[in-house]
Amino acid sequence: MAGRLPREFIDDLIARIDIVDLIDARVPLKKSGSSFLARCPFHSEKTPSFSVSREKQFYHCFGCGAHGNAISFLMDYEHQSFPEALETLATLAGIDLPKAMATPGANPSASLQPVYDILERAAGFYIQQLRDHPDAGQAKIYLRKRGLTGEIARRYRLGYAPPGWNSLPADWPRTLLIQSGLVIEKGRSCYDRFRHRIMFPIRDRRGRVIGFGGRTLGDDTPKYLNSPETEVFRKGKELYGLHELLESTPRPRRILVVEGYLDVIALAQHGINDAVATLGTSTSAEHVHLLFRFTREIVFCFDGDAAGHKAAWRALEASLPLLQEGREIRFIHLPAGEDPDSLIRKEGREAFESRIGQASPFSDYLFRTLQKDLDLRSIEGRATLQKQARELLDRLPVGAFRTLMEQRLSEFTGVAPPAPASKSLENRLGHPSGQVRPPSAWRNVVTLLLHRPRLAKLISPEIRARLIENPRAGPLIARILEYTDLRDTPTAGMLFEHLRETPEGELARNLLKPGLLTPEEGMEREFVDALDRVRALLRDERLSQLIEKSKAAQLTDSEREELRKLTGGKS
Ligand SMILES: [Zn+2]
Repeated sequence: MAGRLPREFIDDLIARIDIVDLIDARVPLKKSGSSFLARCPFHSEKTPSFSVSREKQFYHCFGCGAHGNAISFLMDYEHQSFPEALETLATLAGIDLPKAMATPGANPSASLQPVYDILERAAGFYIQQLRDHPDAGQAKIYLRKRGLTGEIARRYRLGYAPPGWNSLPADWPRTLLIQSGLVIEKGRSCYDRFRHRIMFPIRDRRGRVIGFGGRTLGDDTPKYLNSPETEVFRKGKELYGLHELLESTPRPRRILVVEGYLDVIALAQHGINDAVATLGTSTSAEHVHLLFRFTREIVFCFDGDAAGHKAAWRALEASLPLLQEGREIRFIHLPAGEDPDSLIRKEGREAFESRIGQASPFSDYLFRTLQKDLDLRSIEGRATLQKQARELLDRLPVGAFRTLMEQRLSEFTGVAPPAPASKSLENRLGHPSGQVRPPSAWRNVVTLLLHRPRLAKLISPEIRARLIENPRAGPLIARILEYTDLRDTPTAGMLFEHLRETPEGELARNLLKPGLLTPEEGMEREFVDALDRVRALLRDERLSQLIEKSKAAQLTDSEREELRKLTGGKS
């Protein structure tokens, strides 16, 4: 496999694995017609609507819309990262991962292992200092005053960084200390980044220490200091406390997102074990995506000050593209000046739980915030709300939730919800839910291609160019054809992988979500029909274009010829 391109390798990998075996080993499947069925592992149900197709190398749940290939199954079901999923599949297939693809996350023997090792050693060192260092008294008093027990300190591996500039053992390799962010290099000298601070090791989901947060015990700023971004620590991707949470509860019913380490720890001390914290950054879409892999409900609980409100609004914006049926996001508003740490110590678990119970639903929070400075009795106020809300709602994936949000907005503004022909990305091909109207020809063509990429063979060169030109479906079709040109027997699962992380991937996922009821044997027929209807639509469009142009200007000779053909015999 040496020297292979990652893309080729991934294709090969998916081609070698049988998704039916892969899933059956984890979720027992029953054969039913040409596919395999089970009760869906991604939502709770009594009758099976989770279907796996060997032909497509693809799974789909008609209940919750979950779908994907072997890689996404491992990512969603076993919470593996992308490189981890590749590694699992490669092991199953009995092949080696190409060197270029072996990432530190997937391969512990990779070159970053010494960095993980030094961070682990540092965590041990700080724990020992908290116990033994003569200056650690202040740290102990601080923790005790916060009501934290030894058990919690052990669970979160709390430590203490002594006050000196060079407290870390002198015989530890300096380059690694710098590489891991523990030590700062200035000119020819080095000094410890963390001094006289309570240390919070930050762990990745597999429990490896990847960085630290440190709270000062003196007057120096900042009050909270984090490790810098390093090769093993990416703040926008990691959440403090997630490892500890998943260790005790692999599938939490909800996850609470708070601002600081001490919030996480204080809540845990009071028996609320499902909190995680962002690491000095605002909540990113990646964070939200990560959390929805483990739970269906996220509750944001930020401080009751201006910064907290801003953080909550950012979290709302980051969540928009990820909000689908079956997922829930709510917001807790803490009293001014309070944070979860101060509040839980003041009022205890029960009162705090009831705050969580009363958290605002996403929709309430969104509309309430937008309306705050508007007078909805005036036309201007309603117009402003309409514009601002529209921009946000356009970022929601198409589906029942979005439709409900649109209805809600129209109740406030009196403006009718948009027709399916809106400009937004997901709406470009009409409503994928497709229950109300018959599926549009365009959507049908693309959806069938996604389910059976081999159908691309049936597209003639002449219509192919017109399909790709289409401003709405064109980019996705181009992407699909670019792939099917390369492969002799592409499956849905392979194509799905090709579209991952592309701008067109989102549209593809939305089209795949409702699933396809067409039986295998009917797909070709349906595709040819849909293609015919698209051809007719293109012809009509071109015709009116030429007629419009002829009203305003002279047509060129070739345009006149084209017009003649279009109005003459139907082709
Ligand atoms: Zn499902």
